[in-house]
Amino acid sequence: MKVLVLNCGSSSLKYQLINMENEGVEAIGIAERIGIEGSFVKHEATGKEKVVIEDTMDNHKAAIKIVLDALIDPNHGAIKSMDEIGAVGHRVVHGGEKFSGSVVITQEVKNALEECSDLAPLHNPPNLMGINACEEILPNVPMVAVFDTAFHQTMPESSYIYALPYEYYEKYGIRRYGFHGTSHKYVSDRAASMLGKPLEDLKLITCHLGNGASIAAVKNGQSIDTTMGFTPLEGLAMGTRCGDIDPAIVTFIMEKENMSVSEINNLVNKKSGVLGISGVSSDFRDIENEAAEGNKRAQLALDVYYNKVKKYIGSFAAEMGGVDAVVFTAGLGENSAIARAAICENLEFLGIKIDEERNNVRGKETVVTTDDSTVKVLLIPTNEELTIARETVNLI
Ligand code: AMP
Repeated sequence: MKVLVLNCGSSSLKYQLINMENEGVEAIGIAERIGIEGSFVKHEATGKEKVVIEDTMDNHKAAIKIVLDALIDPNHGAIKSMDEIGAVGHRVVHGGEKFSGSVVITQEVKNALEECSDLAPLHNPPNLMGINACEEILPNVPMVAVFDTAFHQTMPESSYIYALPYEYYEKYGIRRYGFHGTSHKYVSDRAASMLGKPLEDLKLITCHLGNGASIAAVKNGQSIDTTMGFTPLEGLAMGTRCGDIDPAIVTFIMEKENMSVSEINNLVNKKSGVLGISGVSSDFRDIENEAAEGNKRAQLALDVYYNKVKKYIGSFAAEMGGVDAVVFTAGLGENSAIARAAICENLEFLGIKIDEERNNVRGKETVVTTDDSTVKVLLIPTNEELTIARETVNLI
């Protein structure tokens, strides 16, 4: 069976067509600037030349139509007809407390998603638009929703309740939800397989370090704590997000700078993180280069970032009563030997000994610690699309 995996953002739509016979990617692409002038689709079928299709896309339905046309195009397509698409797997950001696993999409599910939109106003509405558009264009194809939050629904109350008046949890659902669940789950499964032990016997700390970043404490296969919270803003410093800060800073800056709610939201989400500290870029490659050339603020941004990751590794190890392996994944985690080495520096007391040579690697599954390191550090490239496709097939 072939599964179309869709990840709909507010003005973009990422897709992969995966053949589940061999789990191979048959086509991959992205529609950008949906609803904005100058929209286009970058599309590549495996073994064929990459194409850029410039066309008007007023909404997600128009974008999906163009993507499907690209998939069946005789020159640059991957399939002969749309009938070859056996199912569609949708990435959905927020499942609230309603969804602790993936689900086949029904009207009831869509209603529940609508209710969760309050919790993720930037993400869930475009996810729903993608689902509705697909339903119209591919009415007989089963669809599955795979949630970023679902994996973390196993967290105990002591991890997810904030020290705020309890009524706000009851009234508005204000609690820690956690995100990147599909990635944390995928790398946990792979880690168990690499370590040759059942996941149920392991204590893992999975570090998803990309533009957005989060860490999860995965004990016996279940997420028991994670750094992102009510929204993806909490926890680590990120490309442009501030992560944990004293909440009093928000009202202080608002008063001093006469800022509105949307302005402060923009500041903490888009102008902070390593971009805010360094003033250089939100991309770690640029910051690493600047730091190497002696830019002190670039180095400071990296040091703040590494320190946060290290702190959470320590606290999650304490929370689980130990750790068997630390996993690095996503853009920075998979590609930056500098970041992995800096984060793991001085963690020998925990049993972590990085092997410099083994760590000098990128983008492949491997162990980067010495043979006598009692806690293993693993590099595992994440694959959220494949996880979504697998969940989709399992459910239908
Ligand atoms: P992701 O969100 O997982 O796509 O990760 C994107 C981020 O990974 C980029 O913003 C970069 O900061 C980081 N990244 C990707 N490649 C490298 C690299 N070779 N060295 C350092 N950072 C990288």
